Amino acid sequence: MKVKGVNVKKKLGQNFIFDKNILTKIVTASEITPEDFVLEIGTGLGTLTEELAKRVKKVVSFEIDKELYEKAKEKLYLWDNVFLVNDDIMKVDLNEIANKYFGSKPFKVVANLPYYITSLIIMMLLECKFVKEITVLVQKEVAERICATPGTKDYGILTIFTNFKAKPKILFNLPPTVFIPPPKVDSSLVKLQILDKPSVEVKDEMLFSNVVKAAFGQRRKVLPNALKTLGFPREIIDKALAMSKISFQRRGETLSIEEFALLSNVIYDLIN
Ligand code: SAM
Repeated sequence: MKVKGVNVKKKLGQNFIFDKNILTKIVTASEITPEDFVLEIGTGLGTLTEELAKRVKKVVSFEIDKELYEKAKEKLYLWDNVFLVNDDIMKVDLNEIANKYFGSKPFKVVANLPYYITSLIIMMLLECKFVKEITVLVQKEVAERICATPGTKDYGILTIFTNFKAKPKILFNLPPTVFIPPPKVDSSLVKLQILDKPSVEVKDEMLFSNVVKAAFGQRRKVLPNALKTLGFPREIIDKALAMSKISFQRRGETLSIEEFALLSNVIYDLIN
């Protein structure tokens, strides 16, 4: 299938938006201002890029597909505040991007993300200290995972990591029909407002992250079994659970982010 003379590569998550009303709705919801630096992931044919360019100081937009990059360059050449980069966002260092294009100032992310790597992109953005706000279109199912509550099937690693660093909110949903070609799933615009400091106090972020990964890695197992993969002696895990007042019968998927923080902090104290 061709769109505007360009071959659509489905495996790259190419679902474009041309509808001006929808584009306006997205940029309005992102609350960008003329002072903002914005990173877009997935230029596509440059439709969202142009709406961003009209409203902000500078837009840097990454596109992995050379054909689309060339086409977007033609469309956007008059905008001197737009910088298009033909590269894979997963291969770049965001701190270097912040330094090179934004003078190491905080920046916002606004994008219609490629859905095959949504979670990886969000995790990567959350790791970058220059990112101050993320407004992105994602699969509805991912948006629901981000905003899930403990004990539900959607609750998982993505929920914890997102809520550790940010305050997430689903702004609105969009049906497949607003995209060309339409994706197989419904979409949601989510906003992640990055917090000044993590939502819970954690003594060792790596340990916290490993505890969360171990707990959800085997989410059907009770915690003493699931946490075995951390490689600590059984007594440490048992003691940490007891000291955190978390029942041995519970599964990781029922723990709140506060309980994960407490548990990892107690383990930290026991091993240091
Ligand atoms: N922003 C455009 C729009 O709204 O019409 C395109 C959005 S489309 C959902 C996602 C875009 O991301 C596609 O153009 C795709 O080629 C690009 N893309 C996919 N993987 C990428 C990657 N790893 N790095 C940069 N761009 C990528």
